[in-house]
Amino acid sequence: MGKSTGFLEYPRVTGPYRPKQERVRDYREFSIPLTSDELAKQGSRCMDCGIPYCHAIGCPVYNLIPEWNDGVYRGEWKDALSRLEATNNLAEITGRVCPAPCETACTLSINSAPVTIKQIELAIIEKGFAQGWVVPHPPKKESGKKIAIIGSGPAGLAAAQQLRRAGYRVTVFEKASRIGGILRYGIPDFKLEKWVIDRRLKQMVDEGINFETNVLVGEDISVRYLRRTYDIVLLTLGAGHPRDLQVPGRGLENIHFAMDYLTQSNRTVSGEATSEKPISAKDKTVLVIGGGDTGSDCVGTAIRQGVKKVYQYEILPKPLRWESPSNPSWPCWPDILRTSSSHEEGCEREWSILTKQFSGHDIHLTEGHFARIEWQTDKRTGQQKMVELPGSEFTLKLDLVLLAMGFLHAEHNRLTDELGVEFDENGNIKCREVCTTSADGVFVAGDAGTGASLVVRAINHGREAAKAINQYLK
Ligand SMILES: Cc1cc2nc3c(=O)[nH]c(=O)nc-3n(C[C@H](O)[C@H](O)[C@H](O)COP(=O)(O)OP(=O)(O)OC[C@H]3O[C@@H](n4cnc5c(N)ncnc54)[C@H](O)[C@@H]3O)c2cc1C
Ligand code: SF4
Repeated sequence: MGKSTGFLEYPRVTGPYRPKQERVRDYREFSIPLTSDELAKQGSRCMDCGIPYCHAIGCPVYNLIPEWNDGVYRGEWKDALSRLEATNNLAEITGRVCPAPCETACTLSINSAPVTIKQIELAIIEKGFAQGWVVPHPPKKESGKKIAIIGSGPAGLAAAQQLRRAGYRVTVFEKASRIGGILRYGIPDFKLEKWVIDRRLKQMVDEGINFETNVLVGEDISVRYLRRTYDIVLLTLGAGHPRDLQVPGRGLENIHFAMDYLTQSNRTVSGEATSEKPISAKDKTVLVIGGGDTGSDCVGTAIRQGVKKVYQYEILPKPLRWESPSNPSWPCWPDILRTSSSHEEGCEREWSILTKQFSGHDIHLTEGHFARIEWQTDKRTGQQKMVELPGSEFTLKLDLVLLAMGFLHAEHNRLTDELGVEFDENGNIKCREVCTTSADGVFVAGDAGTGASLVVRAINHGREAAKAINQYLK
C-alpha cells in the first residue's frame, strides 16, 4: 500500500465523457482517459485491505487489484501489467465494457466512493500496448494435441490463448466473417472500437492460434470430421437464442430482435458488406423493449443513426434511485437505477409497462398498444406477480420496434444434437464438473453454459475450461 491516507486525501475521480453533442455525431468511444498523475492519485486511494473484496468477491477473474493499484501509484507500470496479465486475457476489453463488480465490492464503497479500478485497469493495459510490453507468448513446447474451439467470443478467445500457451494446437472456428462474438457484433463502437479486438488478435495469431471464419460448425464441417481431427472440442457458442414477444402483430415489418439490428449496424460502421435489408432508425420513432444493456446499446445506436424519438420500455418496476457513490447492497451488486451514456444522449424511459399488441397498415407497423402494471406479492406463494392497472392502456405511434428482452439459451442445432450434449432445465449446455459436458472430450464455456452473462465471466469460464482440458489431456 503506497499511501496510507490516500483515500482520505483524494476524492474518487472518473474519466469524463466526450460532450454529448459531439459524440452522437460519430461512433468513436465516448469516454476520455484520466492522466497518469490523476491515476496515481486514484491508485493511492486503495487501502490494500486485509480481505480485498474487490478481488475475492467482486472480480470474476480474481484480478490482483490491490497490487496493481499500488503499482500505478508508484509509477511501476510494467509490474502492474504483469499482474494484470496474470489473470485477464482481455483487460483492454473489460477495462472498457465491464460493469465493474469489483468497484461495487470495494471496501471503500461501504460508506464512500470506491477506488477507480476499471479505469486503472484500462490505463495499465493501454500503457502496456503503447510501450510494446504486450508481446506474444508462444509455447516453449508443443504437446502435439489438437483442440477445436467453436465460437470466438471472449470465452473462446480466453480459452484459446490459455491452451495455446500450454502447448496445444488450437483452431478457433467462427460462423461470422470476423472474430469476436458479441464484442464484434453486439457491443457498438462507441463502447468498444473494433481495432481494440484486432490488436489483441494479432498477438494471438503470433502465438500460433489458427482462426477459421465463415465456418458454421455442424453444417460447413461435420461433427464426424471434428471428432476425427481434434482431441478435444470446446463449445463457446454463446447464448444466441433471443427471448421473443408473443403478442398479436409481432409479425409486422419493422419489429426486429436487438441483435439483428446491432449486428447490422456494427457491420456497417466497420465497412463490412451486408446483404440484408437495412434496419435503420433514421427519422423514425423507435421503441426499444427491454431495459438492460442491450437495450441501452440500441438507444445509443439509434441516436447516432438520426432517430426522431426513442423510447425504452421495461416490464419490471423502476429500480431504486441511488445518488450516493456508496453501495446500498455492499459487497453485492446493487439493484439500482443505472443511467448509461446512451440514456443521457436523449431517451424516454418507462418501467412497469406491458406490451399488449402491435398494429399496422398491411404489413407495416404503425402503433404499439400498452398497459401499465403493478408488481404485487402473491400472498399464497410469496412470488411477485404483475397486475394490470385498470384504465391504464395507451397507444404509441411507432415506426420501428427493437426487442432487447434478453437471451434464453444457446442455439440447439445439428452441432449440439450430433455431439450429443445434454441441456440443463434452462436450455443451456449442461456442465457436469468444471466445464465438462455429457459428451466425452467435449467441454463448454461462456454464455453457452451459464446463460447470458458478462464479458468478464465469459473470460473466467474460458480460462477454467482451459485448465480443465489441460488436466483431462495430461
Ligand atoms: C448487445 C450486447 C451488449 C453487451 N454489452 C456488454 C457489456 O457492455 N459488458 C459486458 O460485460 N457484457 C456485455 N454483454 C454480454 C457479453 O457480451 C456476453 O456475456 C459475452 O460476449 C459472452 O461471451 P461468449 O464467448 O460466451 O459468447 P459470444 O460472445 O456470444 O460468442 C459466441 C460466438 O460463437 C459463434 N458460434 C455459435 N455457434 C457456432 C457454430 N455452430 N459454428 C461457429 N461459430 C458459432 C457465434 O457466432 C459467436 O461469435 C452484452 C451482450 C449483448 C448482446
Ligand atoms: S477493496 Fe477497494 S480499497 Fe480494498 S484492496 Fe480492493 S480496491 Fe483497494
